Amino acid sequence: MTGLVTDWIEFSAVDGPGNRFVVFLQGCNFDCLACHNPYTINACNDCGICVEACPSGALGMVGGRVIWDENACGSTDRCIQICPYDATPKARALEVADLLDRIRPAAPFLSGVTVSGGEATQQAGFVRALFTAIKSDPGLARLTCFVDTNGAADPSVWAELDPVLDGAMVDLKCLDDALHRRLTGEGNAAVLASIEDLARRGKLYEVRLLMVAGVNDADDLLAATGDWLAAVDPTMRVKVIGFRAHGARPSAIPLAEPDAAQRAHYASVLAARGAFDLIVV
Ligand code: SF4
Ligand code: SF4
Repeated sequence: MTGLVTDWIEFSAVDGPGNRFVVFLQGCNFDCLACHNPYTINACNDCGICVEACPSGALGMVGGRVIWDENACGSTDRCIQICPYDATPKARALEVADLLDRIRPAAPFLSGVTVSGGEATQQAGFVRALFTAIKSDPGLARLTCFVDTNGAADPSVWAELDPVLDGAMVDLKCLDDALHRRLTGEGNAAVLASIEDLARRGKLYEVRLLMVAGVNDADDLLAATGDWLAAVDPTMRVKVIGFRAHGARPSAIPLAEPDAAQRAHYASVLAARGAFDLIVV
């Protein structure tokens, strides 16, 4: 089976427990104002705009399709900076076996593999095939398999992944549906349902709250968020992440980074609502 893969990193300490190989899949069903990797949102439409902009001559057009020469690429990322469609010409169609070949050399130093994005569940069949292959491979079977998700997936996706999924990190951009829609382009009903579903399945590793100063950080909203999360599991792991402007697009809503004191305050508001395992970054 083939997946559209943006990129991968061999070692990450922030994408789930331990040291993890992370696969980033291209394509997302949200359009977040605060997205740090907006070039992962859409698939390339072969418009060709980025081809001439490449200072390394690594891009070309063949048969109406953009091609990328990885060996010529100077990694300037000029292509993704200039792309008007939130895409990248560097995403590749890879087989599960291609990824296993890249995971194997790193495996002795890994705790597991995380599929991120974009939105991992947009290619749920590929994720399931990858995780199934990992768990069937004697040299890789000890690796845990996690997804990093925006949570906007149908319950059938979690049922499909459940047999091969060890855990999920779920973003909750905002408990308030109207504000969630302004921040992501979509409502949050599916996200809330996914958090509940994954918790019931024992697969909810962490809920991530991306905090934007002055936008989704009102005390009453945060307290309500804490109450809602505590009703799901008062001891769940909650990661409070301060928005960082690096990589984000210009936004109609002013997006400000919370400082350390603000992030500590968010944690204190949440701590008053449940016995959460709180992490602040
Ligand atoms: S869900 Fe993630 S990848 Fe998708 S637009 Fe939002 S921040 Fe970006
Ligand atoms: S990456 Fe963007 S600019 Fe380049 S061809 Fe694809 S859609 Fe066009």
